[in-house]
Amino acid sequence: AGAAGLGAARVDVLVMGGDAGAEGDASAAAKLPGVDKVVTLSHSALSSPVQPETGAAALAALAASGGYSHVVCASTSWGKGLLPRAAALAGVQPVTDVVRFDEGGDAFVRPIYAGNALETVRYAQGAVPEGQPKYISVRTTAFEAVPAEGGAAGVEAAAGPAELEAAAEEQASEFVSAETSAGERPDLGTASVVVSGGRGLKSGDNFHLVEELADALGGAAVGASRAAVDAGFCANDMQVGQTGKIVAPDLYVAVGISGAIQHVAGMKDSKVVVAINKDGEAPIFEVADYGLKADLFEAVPELAEKVKAARA
Ligand SMILES: Cc1cc2nc3c(=O)[nH]c(=O)nc-3n(C[C@H](O)[C@H](O)[C@H](O)COP(=O)(O)OP(=O)(O)OC[C@H]3O[C@@H](n4cnc5c(N)ncnc54)[C@H](O)[C@@H]3O)c2cc1C
Repeated sequence: AGAAGLGAARVDVLVMGGDAGAEGDASAAAKLPGVDKVVTLSHSALSSPVQPETGAAALAALAASGGYSHVVCASTSWGKGLLPRAAALAGVQPVTDVVRFDEGGDAFVRPIYAGNALETVRYAQGAVPEGQPKYISVRTTAFEAVPAEGGAAGVEAAAGPAELEAAAEEQASEFVSAETSAGERPDLGTASVVVSGGRGLKSGDNFHLVEELADALGGAAVGASRAAVDAGFCANDMQVGQTGKIVAPDLYVAVGISGAIQHVAGMKDSKVVVAINKDGEAPIFEVADYGLKADLFEAVPELAEKVKAARA
């Protein structure tokens, strides 16, 4: 999606991996409309999940030898580990968290001050060494996703660059295990409806109110404010905000959340915001399209019932 605003003449997707899983990813990438070529790189040092040290060495080498103008990566936890490393190897300052491309891809718009301002930056003349691409990470929530089908790109295997071999030998860290919360709810970052709970819920025992409203809305994703996470009401991977996840769903419902700037930084691009708060002066109402000044312990169960009835 990020490549769309770049006005790129050609879009190649790099799929790195050390196992069969990468083949599935490569054929999925080949079906994305707008992709010209999928370049695969298989190497035992790139076994899933690709470690940033080896991944960056491979990416930087392939990006330089392929004559690319830009390397674009999603600003996810993984991308944040990979892209700056690759950029450093290339001697290029990365531009991170881009939300819009201007001037046909020469100017990059990105949030600063926890999303309270947008800055537009451009690479100065000579800032990118000859033969190196610009390194950009994008906030995926700021771009429309392309459909999963419709393209028919070719898939080409790349030879493992010498830099990857060297990085694999020097590799100082090793992947041990990943603990993921395998919930049934959609992923917060991509869900079309998100219901978040805050400190107003008073305790973790009351968090079910938020979950029930999310269920009534057809199985929405559930998020939280940092105060709710810090108080142990819910898991910390549910935090929305400056230091949590950035979400931009079609509908965001904030329950018992005051609307601190650090929280708003993570949800202000939501298309419709609904806030339920008993304090009519709460700043969340400034970003809300619909505000309900009410006690959440009464309003949320009632709303869940009414939504359920309306959808039945
Ligand atoms: C560097 C930094 C980074 C941060 N990053 C984040 C972040 O990523 N995400 C984040 O969320 N915060 C973040 N914060 C914290 C942020 O500043 C706020 O402290 C936090 O968002 C407050 O959470 P809250 O709205 O749930 O709690 P509060 O501010 O305590 O608000 C609770 C709200 O619930 C309402 N309420 C209480 N009882 C009821 C009731 N019965 N019915 C209805 N409403 C009720 C109250 O009126 C109040 O508005 C960060 C702070 C710092 C300094």
